[in-house]
Amino acid sequence: MSLRSIESDWDIVVVGGGVTGAGVFRESTRRGLKALLVEQKDFAWGTSSRSSKLVHGGLRYLKEGKFALTRESVRERERLIREAPGLVKRLEFRLPIYKGLKPGAWTMGIGLTIYDLISGKRSYRYYGRRAYMKIESLVARQGLKGGFSFTDAQVDDARLVLSLIGTAERSGGLALNYTRVTGLERDFRGEVCGVFLEDTESKEAACVKTRLVINATGVWAEGLHPSPEKNKHLRPLRGSHLIFPKELIPIETAVSFFSPKDGRQQFAFPWEGGILVGTTDIDHQGALSEEPFASEEEVAYLLEGINTIFPSLRLTSADALSSFAGVRPVVSEGKVSADRESREHVIWTDRGLVTVTGGKLTTFRVLARDALSAARDYLPSKGLSEAIEPIFEPWTGEATPPGLSFETHQRLWGRYGRQASVMLANAPEKHLRVIAGTQTILAELPHAAAREKIRHLDDLLLRRVRIGLLLPEGGKAHLDEIRALCGPVMSWSDAQWDKEIEDYLRMWRAHHCPQRRQD
Ligand SMILES: Cc1cc2nc3c(=O)[nH]c(=O)nc-3n(C[C@H](O)[C@H](O)[C@H](O)COP(=O)(O)OP(=O)(O)OC[C@H]3O[C@@H](n4cnc5c(N)ncnc54)[C@H](O)[C@@H]3O)c2cc1C
Repeated sequence: MSLRSIESDWDIVVVGGGVTGAGVFRESTRRGLKALLVEQKDFAWGTSSRSSKLVHGGLRYLKEGKFALTRESVRERERLIREAPGLVKRLEFRLPIYKGLKPGAWTMGIGLTIYDLISGKRSYRYYGRRAYMKIESLVARQGLKGGFSFTDAQVDDARLVLSLIGTAERSGGLALNYTRVTGLERDFRGEVCGVFLEDTESKEAACVKTRLVINATGVWAEGLHPSPEKNKHLRPLRGSHLIFPKELIPIETAVSFFSPKDGRQQFAFPWEGGILVGTTDIDHQGALSEEPFASEEEVAYLLEGINTIFPSLRLTSADALSSFAGVRPVVSEGKVSADRESREHVIWTDRGLVTVTGGKLTTFRVLARDALSAARDYLPSKGLSEAIEPIFEPWTGEATPPGLSFETHQRLWGRYGRQASVMLANAPEKHLRVIAGTQTILAELPHAAAREKIRHLDDLLLRRVRIGLLLPEGGKAHLDEIRALCGPVMSWSDAQWDKEIEDYLRMWRAHHCPQRRQD
């Protein structure tokens, strides 16, 4: 879409197409506001496709005495499980306890009791050594005293963002990817009255008017709005993950454990057909304009953790399917270690510009509401009222087509909302097949390629679907099939396809290949 063809007057312009921006965008359209969202790269390209994919209360926040943050997160978790079936689902965790290692069973039991009290339901259970070994046979046995089970939830983070954006667009909003805000326009009183936009590829530029700008640019937020607090700035903290084939880490639930190196909490859990292992927490020294990746040291750290808890597996980086890294927006005075930094969000206001950053994926709705409350003086009266429309398009319970399992059907609804029916109506039965090693069905690829604003192959393979992280070498062996499937619904020439494939594989090797690399 040409920037010159878009409308020139908006109630609200949201900058940033991660979960924070997508949440504000969705909340705005629910309130009937005329909303535009712009993202400089692809939707969810930033941290919001690179998280640990947990919708969680955050047990560790309890340890730090952050009861309010835990309560808020647990409440949001329960709400998301209820409102977004097929996208957010409960995940059982197991946590083994070892002799002489912290935390002990007593401390953990207290933490989990509080966790349950906050969510209002009893989910945790303690198992003695023998009973625990029965339910979790892979974990190291030396010094094992027993273990806990409890529940949290998991999500496909990029699809959460896309679901919010898609639903908001179907309620009247407009979202543009590959469109950067290059500056703000202010009137003679210094009030924000417009934004300067640039298509990052065609370089086409435009200026649109707006009553309000929400800066939801995560770790980039100070580029548009320097921190008003002299001693508090964004501290980019990187976290990296590895994904393994399910056969190599045969677990059915999440296993949480503590790093033998520094005692940080780590985890492994089934995700989208693979096993996700995470995470690190270190200061990110790389340029924010460049895509982050897991360094050799981080890969070694993750392997040491996983091989200590599952000693029989002897995993190496060559066993991993992929790696990915994200940079956490944390507002900090820089006085504590990375893993002790607060995950709470901040709101800064400056005459028609509201910045919302920090926080968590889990609490995106809270961030959205807080940002709009801070902007109330700039909103038309309809923007002040509580929204009635649900955030996600509710599952209508329509009949599952032959050839599809109920679980996959619900999964598609969770990810695509009403568009799932369009996808299924257009798909021949042979395209309902699940791609081995993933939970993606073939029909998702041409659907996303045709309707979800794809500009590059990595948009399709890493964010619309996640098979680029789940198949060996980014799905290299499947690229001809994907080209044949998506080619007819896309306008790419043969030469463009060749270039996209070459660029995608180069990018994958540089940023998602788990072997090699210095920071
Ligand atoms: C390793 C890791 C693990 C995590 N795990 C979890 C978890 O399990 N659960 C959880 O709840 N939270 C988790 N988080 C936190 C969560 O991922 C982040 O809080 C959240 O994704 C931040 O979203 P955001 O939209 O604010 O930022 P982002 O997702 O980074 O989005 C900001 C966007 O703004 C765009 N942008 C920047 N400047 C401009 C501009 N000038 N014009 C247009 N666009 C621009 C960027 O390209 C980017 O896409 C994790 C974070 C990390 C790093």
